[in-house]
Amino acid sequence: MRIDIMTLFPEFVDYVLSESIIGRARKAGKLDIRTYNIRDYSEDKHRRVDDTPYGGGKGMLMAAPPIYRCYEAVRDSLRSETEDEEPYVIYMSPAGKVFTQEDAKRLAKKKEITLLCGHYEGVDQRLIDEIVDEEISIGDFVLTGGEIPACLVADAVGRLCDGVLSEPECYEKESFEDGVLEYPQYTRPPVWMGREVPEVLISGHHANIEKWRAEAALEKTREKRPDLLEMKDPPEEERS
Ligand code: SAM
Repeated sequence: MRIDIMTLFPEFVDYVLSESIIGRARKAGKLDIRTYNIRDYSEDKHRRVDDTPYGGGKGMLMAAPPIYRCYEAVRDSLRSETEDEEPYVIYMSPAGKVFTQEDAKRLAKKKEITLLCGHYEGVDQRLIDEIVDEEISIGDFVLTGGEIPACLVADAVGRLCDGVLSEPECYEKESFEDGVLEYPQYTRPPVWMGREVPEVLISGHHANIEKWRAEAALEKTREKRPDLLEMKDPPEEERS
């Protein structure tokens, strides 16, 4: 899969996405992540990409032309390497739909996504109307820029792509699969600070282990995220 990231801080994004599993997947050619510096597409002699908002108000806004030229560069590179491919543009935005594991799975099926990182007060609405396919938020709070959200999306989507994790099982039994959180996990030593590993896990009895894990996952979800269970089994009146 290819992930293109349009940002004012390509070094930051590259650094974050060069470590550990994602970094190794990039080196092994399993994930193609490319960054573009929007400032390189400014035609201003000082490489400015922002301006004051019409109508007044504090702060600066990212102007449409440099971002559009950057988008054209992504599009041209995609077209030169693939047939009939258009970038699928996602604007990282507090106004977007809050990102979930279902979104990560949906996006991991695409051949390419382009993540647009805003900064300052955000970007000119006309740019959003012209090129953006969807807006994604990482939660109901405001960050200074879209770089952390873009890294987060690239990580969550990237790890689901073929060959990035050693076994598909690594994510098939994780939190949010089947609408529950993952069961508690333990490793050696068997006793630590007087706390013992649940006996069933060292019994070697696979059926009992599976049963324990299913029950423990449900109990943990009930305690920490009861809303997930409500979504899984909506009350009678919400089913129709
Ligand atoms: N003025 C905007 C507003 O009130 O909605 C906030 C702009 S924010 C300071 C600058 C940039 O950070 C945004 O354009 C966006 O790309 C990114 N950003 C901030 N919070 C975010 C969030 N919760 N999810 C995704 N992106 C976010």
